[in-house]
Amino acid sequence: MPVNYAQLSDPNAHYTMRDLSAETMGVTADRGERSVEITDVQTTIVDGNYPWTLVRVYTDAGVAGTGESYWGVGEPEIIDRLTPFLVGENPLDIDRLYEHLVQKMSGEGSISGKVVSAISGIETALHDVAGKLLDVPAYQLLGGKYRDEVRVYCDCHAGDESEPASNAREAERVVSELDYDALKFDLDVPSGHEKDRANRHMRGPEIEHKAEIVREVCETVGDRADVAFDCHWSYSASSAKRLLREVEDLDVWWIEDPIPPENHDVQREVTHSSTTPVAVGENVYRTHGNRQLIEEQATDILAPDLPKVGGMRETQKIAHMADLYYTPIAMHNVASPIGTMASAQVAATIPNALAVEFHSYQLGWWEALVEEDNLIEGGRLTVPERPGLGLTLDMDAVAEHMVDGEELFDEASEAA
Ligand SMILES: [Mg+2]
Repeated sequence: MPVNYAQLSDPNAHYTMRDLSAETMGVTADRGERSVEITDVQTTIVDGNYPWTLVRVYTDAGVAGTGESYWGVGEPEIIDRLTPFLVGENPLDIDRLYEHLVQKMSGEGSISGKVVSAISGIETALHDVAGKLLDVPAYQLLGGKYRDEVRVYCDCHAGDESEPASNAREAERVVSELDYDALKFDLDVPSGHEKDRANRHMRGPEIEHKAEIVREVCETVGDRADVAFDCHWSYSASSAKRLLREVEDLDVWWIEDPIPPENHDVQREVTHSSTTPVAVGENVYRTHGNRQLIEEQATDILAPDLPKVGGMRETQKIAHMADLYYTPIAMHNVASPIGTMASAQVAATIPNALAVEFHSYQLGWWEALVEEDNLIEGGRLTVPERPGLGLTLDMDAVAEHMVDGEELFDEASEAA
């Protein structure tokens, strides 16, 4: 028999004073038609270009909402573990329920990592539920719009990623044929000049090879597109500084994650060393995890990943904090249409949104997961006026693309 994670004991129930459940807090007032209760939370993993964790929150009002937790192992178990803390709660109390889950999981690790990503998916599903119950789009729950459509940047992969001309050809294709005006390419690609990658040091010819990729791509697209380049936490501080300086005269949108993400002091120094814009943020969690980056201006552009960082309200909080320092937000995103739309809904509500990433342009069925069509057109994602996230999962498509051994959502729970 598999372990039933919903039945794990709750040690926190015995020793924390800060239980934020409705019962403990005395949040029991009759809300008329809005006296709705959560009945169940379920997950299904879809085998996209990442193993996407879709999350469904069911209620006794016959309304279910969909969210997405950052891809990978462990999220379904954590969400099963969290479900008893949600059943019986009113799904409209999104903020308190988020804090309730963070508090309940404090011992198991709710500062960062998988627990925060699990909560992110639930929190997003709660916005979908709440929007449907109140008949408003999710962006309206978050304070309304700065923009109707959100700029989308396309994460690109050339045939031969080490070949500058190959990257430039793909850039041209994505701009002229797919109609994007914002792109990103990987820059942590082999140059043929490496001696030992473990030490993170880049030799001169490696730096020149990367600068050549940047130069060819940027000169090919010219002012038709903005282009970012991702280093995936690969290099030493001195190598990162040399790379940033090498491309200073090129029109780079940003260089992403040139150094590992753990040492904040080094990040600040690297960012401050050059006028080339630096973007970081996809590997930090919650508002607290982003605070120093923002306050010390240790990044020029912040790149939170909504299904990972804490969900919709947490991403909005981070963006508002960043706006105090005039720092733009480029939302990292490798999600299915659910996490992508959640990101777009938040991006619509913040003044400092630069763009939302799209990471599935080579996956033919990305959009088939939902019933709606043409989500991204002309490099823009129009935020829908439908309730909640404005998307409906296509359950046949979910069933078709589930990972082996996964079970489809039990929609009978919706009426429970
Ligand atoms: Mg990245």
